[in-house]
Amino acid sequence: MTLSCDVAILGAGTAGMAAYRAARAHTDRVLLIEAEHYGTTCARVGCMPSKLLIAAGDAARAVHDAPRFGVMTEPARVDGRAVMDRVRSERDRFVGFVLETVQGWPEATRLFGHARFTAPGVLEVAGQTVQAKAVVIATGSRPVIPAGWRERLGSRLIVNDDVFDWVDLPRSVAVVGAGVIGLELALALHKLGVRLRLFARNDRVGPLTDPELQALARELFAEDLPLCLNATDLDPVLDGDEVVVAGERFDLLLCAAGRHANLDDLGLEHLDLPRTPEGHPTLDRHTGQWGQAPVFVAGDATNDRPLLHEAADAGRIAGDNAARWPEVHHRPRRTPLAVVFSDPQIAMAGASHAELTAAGMAFDTGRVSFADQGRSRVMLVNRGGLHVYAERNTGRLLGAEMIGPAAEHLGHLLAWSVQRGDTVRQMLDCPFYHPVVEEGLRTALRQLSSDLHLPPPPPETGLDGDTAAEVGA
Ligand SMILES: Cc1cc2nc3c(=O)[nH]c(=O)nc-3n(C[C@H](O)[C@H](O)[C@H](O)COP(=O)(O)OP(=O)(O)OC[C@H]3O[C@@H](n4cnc5c(N)ncnc54)[C@H](O)[C@@H]3O)c2cc1C
Repeated sequence: MTLSCDVAILGAGTAGMAAYRAARAHTDRVLLIEAEHYGTTCARVGCMPSKLLIAAGDAARAVHDAPRFGVMTEPARVDGRAVMDRVRSERDRFVGFVLETVQGWPEATRLFGHARFTAPGVLEVAGQTVQAKAVVIATGSRPVIPAGWRERLGSRLIVNDDVFDWVDLPRSVAVVGAGVIGLELALALHKLGVRLRLFARNDRVGPLTDPELQALARELFAEDLPLCLNATDLDPVLDGDEVVVAGERFDLLLCAAGRHANLDDLGLEHLDLPRTPEGHPTLDRHTGQWGQAPVFVAGDATNDRPLLHEAADAGRIAGDNAARWPEVHHRPRRTPLAVVFSDPQIAMAGASHAELTAAGMAFDTGRVSFADQGRSRVMLVNRGGLHVYAERNTGRLLGAEMIGPAAEHLGHLLAWSVQRGDTVRQMLDCPFYHPVVEEGLRTALRQLSSDLHLPPPPPETGLDGDTAAEVGA
């Protein structure tokens, strides 16, 4: 049977669902094709269940830390079954909402099966032929597994997807990969009492690019977490029921060594589409269009900022343009914002230190350490540092990186300021309550303002005065 449509969307994840909504605003002849699961990576095996596990780890840590406040407790007893029960049932609830949405869409606009191009504009899906005027590829990504590991380790090798189906916590796990996913899961499991070691390929832990903050991150995570840096030649082997990594035995090896865009089984050889030297699609992120073809790409499949809100935005742009084809509109993109739910948390807003340096920008850095920051000390979360970067001549905020308390919230304030084009002076003129963690940001901004040698504002307009006497700012 041959089906024909205006827009075929490959993948019903976050990007695909956003593309579907945007395309349906123009035409009913849309086909959303899903190969494996409805429910999205975010809800099923990504953002949401990982945050549920982290929340359980934080609860265990709060009990552990209570005596530091003079609140005496018995040592926390973690019931792994109860932890995983909550993770799975809340996860299922989140997935349920997504399923409800998809099932509410007309059946004639949905197709189940793996889609593969057989010619430009022609797809094969579960034995059927689909002809589409334009196609959105929103096929997501999957974990990279080093060659031979699966064969050698069998079911003792797991990825993030497997963790959230556990009915109990394992005794021990080797986590390979100190990127965002490896770091978040390793910290959560460690706090829940799982014996663990985190293996990093080099000496970097997490995504911070500012060398001072990356060194601080390494130091802070190493205080808490058994870490093995520069672990290049890991040669894990199975011995009985256990995985042996660098001489240490574990129940499981959790592979979090990066993710790979799902572009390799799509029949793309039938389309003559341009690629970067690294093999990624040559895309315009403001249109989602791949080269000049009626093919649009969105979400993790693009290899560009693999984050939920970016996938949703890119999906909307791609779906809108696919339905308008051959008209293609440029759309704005938001200021970059990334958060890692580690402990301490990490946030990156606007341009990173590495991007500013590579672009040869003339910028100054304002710094604050949270070690003596008042409210952070009150709450015993006084670990970390924040760097803010501003353009030398104008004082315009360009970006920020931080590891420390409340990073998920400060990251938002900083990204919003970058997107609005705020100057350091404008930010200092905003209200700062006392005592709050945000006062640490103000300290960094004040130092930056002084380093930038900007002329002081006239007294009639300047709001930020000399408040050196404030306690613990
Ligand atoms: C453990 C983990 C934690 C995360 N935490 C966060 C977080 O805290 N915050 C954040 O912003 N982001 C987080 N992310 C990233 C975020 O989940 C992703 O960026 C986002 O889900 C990507 O959405 P997507 O639509 O591109 O892909 P997906 O949601 O993966 O959708 C892709 C869909 O395409 C389908 N598909 C693949 N090939 C085909 C084909 N040939 N034909 C038809 N269908 C196909 C797949 O089955 C899948 O359903 C996390 C990710 C992970 C793994």
